[in-house]
Amino acid sequence: MNFPFNKPFLAGREKQYLDEALVSGKLSGNGDFTRRCQTLLETKYGLRKTLLTTSCTDALELAALLIDIQPGDEVIIPSYTFVSTANAFALRRAKIVFADSQNEHPNLDAGGLEALITPRTRAIIPVHYGGQSCDMPTIMQLAKKHSLWVVEDAAQAIDSAADGKFLGGIGHLGAFSFHDTKNIIAGEGGALSINHGPFIRRAEILWEKGTNRSAFFRGEVDKYGWVDVGSSFLPSELIAAFLLAQLEEVEKIQRMRMQAWRVYQSALLALQNHGVLVMPDFPHNAHLFYLVCRSLDERTALIAHLKAQGIASVFHYLSLHKSPYFAARHDGRDLPNADRFTDCLLRLPMYAELGADGAQRICEAILSFYNR
Ligand SMILES: *Cc1c(COP(=O)(O)O)cnc(C)c1O
Repeated sequence: MNFPFNKPFLAGREKQYLDEALVSGKLSGNGDFTRRCQTLLETKYGLRKTLLTTSCTDALELAALLIDIQPGDEVIIPSYTFVSTANAFALRRAKIVFADSQNEHPNLDAGGLEALITPRTRAIIPVHYGGQSCDMPTIMQLAKKHSLWVVEDAAQAIDSAADGKFLGGIGHLGAFSFHDTKNIIAGEGGALSINHGPFIRRAEILWEKGTNRSAFFRGEVDKYGWVDVGSSFLPSELIAAFLLAQLEEVEKIQRMRMQAWRVYQSALLALQNHGVLVMPDFPHNAHLFYLVCRSLDERTALIAHLKAQGIASVFHYLSLHKSPYFAARHDGRDLPNADRFTDCLLRLPMYAELGADGAQRICEAILSFYNR
């Protein structure tokens, strides 16, 4: 039997809603399906205002415009993250200051943050790896003390909460992804949550190509025109229709993913207890399940062992401070934890239909690799 790394899951009403969108005569963005998705996200997750975007990358780029990043402004970002987290700010010619991960988890190490703050620092971008919250109390407190913006990269964090607040709703802005490797999917898609009230009006304008078209549709102005910079950040109604079907079934999707996650954890716990590998200790939103191997060679051998049994495991994130684009721009600080996760972290297959049996089979293959 073959286990892909990811398998997009259809939750139920995707085809029905796509059909409704097709016959509605409205395919472009900011229509009824878009509004229904946004309202659902706002009410379910306590987000003040959300705007659907064509990707999380797009949501981050919209965020960088909203907080008005200027050339030379410094932005603190974990090195161990997806390219888009940093690229959105590099596009605005910000100076990216990369932070290291925690020793025990890929999330950025909030303890080392204050030392990175200078008079030019404008924003901190915490990435909630695997839906696990960064240390938001510390980050928000530092942001307040130094007058910084906080943009949460909540790409992996839909439906995950910490201290009673949903992730993406804690910082001034939060960016979500509905890429088909995430829990809730739309092929490509995303959303920006705008938790800082004064940003809402301008966010709508940047979202609609720099026009006040949203206010026009609400009847607040009698014509619309070019009032600011902007871009076409909004997805079509077809994307929103598909997404709504997913969002309406988030409980079912999360329940299914959680089953596989729990099996991984219990079946592999003995390996962790013997110091063979490290794994996450809590499922959060069951976005992913990872192992941290003892060395790069061991991870390479494990990937090959699993592949021979039809199991696709993947590693990801190559420290951005060492990337071909950034290495010459980096200030030279060592970020050893980011490098260790780059070399040793491995993600196991995780998707709604994997199920307890699938996860069990994969665990058996891992246990056999370690002769257990
Ligand atoms: C997936 C992901 C993104 C990018 O999301 P897209 O919707 O594909 O643009 C950004 N940051 C993190 C941490 C991600 O996991």
